[in-house]
Amino acid sequence: MSFDYDLFVIGGGSGGVRAARLASSEAGAKVALAEEYRMGGTCVIRGCVPKKLMVFASGYTPAFEDARAYGWDVTSGAFDWSRFKTNLHAELTRLEGIYTRNLGNAGVEIFHTRAVVKDAHTVELANGQVFTAKHILVATGGRPFVPEFPGSDLAVTSNEMFLLDALPKKMLIVGGGFIACEFACIMNGLGVDVTQFYRGAQVLRGFDDEARGHVADQMTSGGVNLHVGTDVVSMKKTPDGIAVKSTTGHDDTYDVVMYATGRNPNTDGLGLAEAGVKLGRKGEVVVDDYSQTSVPSIYAVGDVTDRINLTPVAIREGAAFVETVFHGRPTKPDHDLVASAVFTQPELGTVGLTEEEAREREPIEVYSAAFRPMQTLFAGREDRVLMKLIVSRETRKVLGCHIVAPNAGEMIQLAAIAIKMGATKEDFDRTVAVHPTMSEELVTMKTPTRVA
Ligand code: NDP
Repeated sequence: MSFDYDLFVIGGGSGGVRAARLASSEAGAKVALAEEYRMGGTCVIRGCVPKKLMVFASGYTPAFEDARAYGWDVTSGAFDWSRFKTNLHAELTRLEGIYTRNLGNAGVEIFHTRAVVKDAHTVELANGQVFTAKHILVATGGRPFVPEFPGSDLAVTSNEMFLLDALPKKMLIVGGGFIACEFACIMNGLGVDVTQFYRGAQVLRGFDDEARGHVADQMTSGGVNLHVGTDVVSMKKTPDGIAVKSTTGHDDTYDVVMYATGRNPNTDGLGLAEAGVKLGRKGEVVVDDYSQTSVPSIYAVGDVTDRINLTPVAIREGAAFVETVFHGRPTKPDHDLVASAVFTQPELGTVGLTEEEAREREPIEVYSAAFRPMQTLFAGREDRVLMKLIVSRETRKVLGCHIVAPNAGEMIQLAAIAIKMGATKEDFDRTVAVHPTMSEELVTMKTPTRVA
């Protein structure tokens, strides 16, 4: 049977674009890709990239303050949101252009429209065009989820945060995950009066407990009004803004309320269930270790599969899919020891097991140091950083590393290489410190803080 394409990719985000490019340019496949919004997907258009640029923008406030202690005569002046927003969107448009050009240069045919699955080998575009493909790759990502309650339609999500007409004076952020904590710090840094509600006892559930506590303390001392054990009951539009009634009596009125209460896979109306593709409870595409769905010709990668929802993971899944299907080399994407960073102020970088997870599995030693770093100590700030290693008592391997510090994202990338290679605590100890740095603590912690 002959098909219009060897591969039809639905979704032009990190995973879909990587798979399409590799299949076309390296495997010589005839590839098409459909994207209904802007090329680049969540990461480039409304996620990692614009978020990180906002993190950079928000970092100037403390830097201006510290500069005075270092002898500089500086006045910070006002932050001009509209100038920043113009520059931000110019950058996103530039990146979108690069993504589109690279796909075109790789020989991928692009359809700037929505595509849905009709059957195991057929897709239909929104304009009615129908194409057949030997393989279909679903890489449609996810979208923010907002729970239903009275007034929930008044909430914005992270999608809208990059498009605000003006910075709010006062805002509420609901949620305690990556996105809520990152935006709380960003907006606080930009001078917005930020309140954050989290329904549980401590933000960043799933991360190392000590690290979560450390981040929460630093967020609070940095100026975020964090209320844990608190949720929204209802919201109402008033002449003064959005009046919020809470479960704990922290009722107030805000200019903007942002919900960051998780993300759902983008499978609604995609025709997947009708084509026989098994979906999970949240609507995620159920795949095997090779990203193959219950319909053998249909694969899925990235957030739509709800495995580890991070851009670099989606990219690896896309590449492994091409290895498996187009090069005949069955390849499982490696989901073990994936490092990540939460871009709070300060950042949290993490790889491997948390202390709590490790303790459940085997006897461990915990090495942990919290201290005031030189740069901000000099400026009179109370900031504290945390360096933490979890070590197996039996194999001596470092099972987990957790860093809360400025630029922890950069540090954890390097620690992750050693840990992925199976480094032991003694390997860390044999490494001579780089002085004076914060991360030298990782190779100089001699005595366990706890043994469990
Ligand atoms: P998360 O799943 O990380 O966090 C969701 C938060 O919302 C949790 O605190 C959760 O509470 C809370 N929540 C869920 N449902 C409700 C509800 N009905 N009412 C009140 N609170 C609720 O989602 P995010 O949206 O923050 O991020 C989505 C994913 O995006 C992340 O998991 C991550 O993979 C990715 N991401 C990665 C980033 C990075 O690498 N730096 C940055 C941003 C996103 P509870 O803990 O009680 O369940």
